[in-house]
Amino acid sequence: MKTIVANWKMNGSLDLLNQAMEAWQLKSGTNKVILCLPSVFLSAAHTLLRQPNFFLGGQDCHAALQGAFTGDTSAHHLYDAGCRYVLVGHSERRQHHHESNAMVKAKAQAAVAAGLTPIICVGESLEQREQGLALSVLQEQVEQSIPDNATDFYVAYEPIWAIGTGRVAALEDIQQVHAFLKQQLGVGVKLLYGGSVTADNHAFILSLENVDGVLVGGASLKIDDLGKMVRF
Ligand code: PEP
Repeated sequence: MKTIVANWKMNGSLDLLNQAMEAWQLKSGTNKVILCLPSVFLSAAHTLLRQPNFFLGGQDCHAALQGAFTGDTSAHHLYDAGCRYVLVGHSERRQHHHESNAMVKAKAQAAVAAGLTPIICVGESLEQREQGLALSVLQEQVEQSIPDNATDFYVAYEPIWAIGTGRVAALEDIQQVHAFLKQQLGVGVKLLYGGSVTADNHAFILSLENVDGVLVGGASLKIDDLGKMVRF
């Protein structure tokens, strides 16, 4: 069983969620699904979700478990809303919110403390890849972003230049990076690839050695396409 993480980002609507839930109601699929929805939809999704292989995830959490942080969401809140997973360190958070590896690590620690499994995102920029720095950048990111004693977590390899661009990484590059990350982190680590995964290319990516699943942005908003990836 592979894991399909659907990241709606700041997209979708309650209407789309209802349509998706209706379409999937009587189906279960062969892959595990983690729906990372906008946080305001999580409680509604929790009420509607019936499939045993479907789980909910947040898209981010604060590093503190509670406090005076107006507008932020804590890992406890996500757990209360029905989440069992949370993305941390997505490149859009690292870029737009200037999140450092240390901040990502603190968020992952908060997630674990609240009973969530963190999905820790890493990935190199195009410039870093062209300069031959991809593996060293990734090594630094995993060394500094993963909590020291964490045992239950995913790492999502998402090359920044492949996210939302339609430019999926070459299969041999995905394979090289995933082999490297397994070597660095141990064979038991669960590794996802993310970056322009679609209903058309997901099967090739999922068939690669050391790829335990995919993280899907844009295509996860298309109910039929996500259904194909879940293998209903
Ligand atoms: C993402 O949101 O992490 C992502 C990989 O997006 P997309 O699938 O649209 O490239």
